[in-house]
Amino acid sequence: MAVGENVLANLPSVNELVEALAQTTTAPRALVVVRAREAIQAYRKALQRGDPGLDRPTIMARLVEEVRRALAPGVRRVINATGVVLHTGLGRAPLAEEAIASLVEVARFCNVQADLEEGTRSLREAHVESLLKAITGCEAATIVNNNAAATLLVLATLAAGREVIVSRGELVEIGGSYRIPDVMAQSGAILVEVGCTNRTHPRDYEAAVTERTVAIMKVHKSNYAIQGFTSEVSLAELAPLAKEKGLLLIHDMGSGSLVDLASWGLVGEAPASSSLREGADLVTFSGDKLVGGPQAGIIIGKAELIGRVRAHPLARAVRVDKLTLAAMEATLRLLLDPSLAVARVPTLRMITAPASELEARARRLARKLRRQGRTVSVCAGSSRVGSGAFPVTELPTTLVLLEPAPMGPQELARRLRVGTPPVFVRIVDDRVALDVRTVFPEEEPVLVEAVREAFSA
Ligand SMILES: *Cc1c(COP(=O)(O)O)cnc(C)c1O
Repeated sequence: MAVGENVLANLPSVNELVEALAQTTTAPRALVVVRAREAIQAYRKALQRGDPGLDRPTIMARLVEEVRRALAPGVRRVINATGVVLHTGLGRAPLAEEAIASLVEVARFCNVQADLEEGTRSLREAHVESLLKAITGCEAATIVNNNAAATLLVLATLAAGREVIVSRGELVEIGGSYRIPDVMAQSGAILVEVGCTNRTHPRDYEAAVTERTVAIMKVHKSNYAIQGFTSEVSLAELAPLAKEKGLLLIHDMGSGSLVDLASWGLVGEAPASSSLREGADLVTFSGDKLVGGPQAGIIIGKAELIGRVRAHPLARAVRVDKLTLAAMEATLRLLLDPSLAVARVPTLRMITAPASELEARARRLARKLRRQGRTVSVCAGSSRVGSGAFPVTELPTTLVLLEPAPMGPQELARRLRVGTPPVFVRIVDDRVALDVRTVFPEEEPVLVEAVREAFSA
């Protein structure tokens, strides 16, 4: 439907909006102009999508408010009350206190690549490598910008121009632009698909081996599960075949836990060390999923292969900075001791939080909100790990359900998001659900205040 001329005519010009903002902000004019232009464009798009037109003063007031918000620091701390622990939109793994202290410490000068004893140049990931050896028993390890970079670099180094066999059940897309076939193509490796979506057998791999084959790659199915009439070939079954044919066995673990969470009742994600034990030559995984550290891609395995990966020209393009190294080193120190890790690494603490503790916290939060005059109830629900880790596992939790009236749940959720600090929630049965699993206990009073403000806004 065409947008009426009169509706568009009510839009202020960039200059008018900038003038209106001049009294309310001290932000640099150049930035105000950019933000004002973006806000007007977004509003025009909303009109074209069919949003009802408003009168001129209302539009002006709304745009001024929007730009003022947009001028606040872009990336800010938020409260995650969604119950999704590894929420990609909210920065995945929240760092441990030790990791935060460490990255603040090295933010100025630090010996990231200098040997203290000799004063000479050193390997920047040396400390991280030692810790990964201690945790997983690997021969060698390296670290890059993220797991997408890790798989790209591994394939480019070891498989460019050669064939790599992957099961059709494992050709995943991880949201956005990460798709196994595309990463393969970028690396120069030639993808050879075997089996069917639901079933792949050892003989499928065997039949696909040619003189051009260099590797078999197994990929974590990440964000989905194949159920019903299925079969997949395990690493342990692939290892003898790879050995017999002289092929490399590569495992893209995705979430890559370094702690065996089975002791905490979470089965289905074996730790990285077991991939090595089962015969993988190289294993890649993310640093900010189940590891619970900063964004990174970790590569562990055979020393000779890691050496080649490090020497590839792409390695420099995807190397990590000192902040990542410091935060990862501090996180890995905690992961050396599984009980310490579960107590100190927030991702692991949140995933393993006992249901009784969550229920007690939810009831306490509900009481505080009732005292504020809100209509709330608590009910059993489930949280998710997120980011493709334990994709089918529902973690039992207790939800605090907040009656949004007089507004709707979407409007209350929006007000909570644009508040200070922003709060992210879920909507369950037309009510706003708060899941304390992902809320740090010290954030609870702030959350209670944020709800008060959302209702009085
Ligand atoms: C998450 C994931 C990736 C991408 O990892 P990033 O660290 O986000 O780049 C790759 N492969 C699998 C199987 C994944 O689960």
